[in-house]
Amino acid sequence: MIRPSPVPNADTRPYWEAAERGELAYRQCLECGKAQFPPGRVCRRCRGETLEWRISGGCGTVHSFTVVHRAPTPAFAAPYAILLVDLEEGFRIMTNLRHGDAAGLAIGSPVRIVFEPSDGGPALPQAELRS
Ligand SMILES: [Zn+2]
Repeated sequence: MIRPSPVPNADTRPYWEAAERGELAYRQCLECGKAQFPPGRVCRRCRGETLEWRISGGCGTVHSFTVVHRAPTPAFAAPYAILLVDLEEGFRIMTNLRHGDAAGLAIGSPVRIVFEPSDGGPALPQAELRS
């Protein structure tokens, strides 16, 4: 069974193009300075419409996580970990732990966002522990 893949649209295409290069793109509001993720046309804090694309260094820490033991479809191999990661640039991303091994994972663990090819879709972000 093939895992469902995201479908880029006009608003998210720069994000997915960066993902293919292995880069984590986000939007920065030039009116209030708030980092935006997932990317959008309007700032969620100030409703400003002047945002630019930026590339994250990909480093952050685990805000929270859960381990899924019963996959929603056979396309997902359980167990696997889902994380909320706070990036150094000030935004949060939900992602999977690369290779799914949650041993050693804790709130506050330092992680790095990397991208892996998907089944026929765009490259997907994954977190891996860093020291
Ligand atoms: Zn703003």
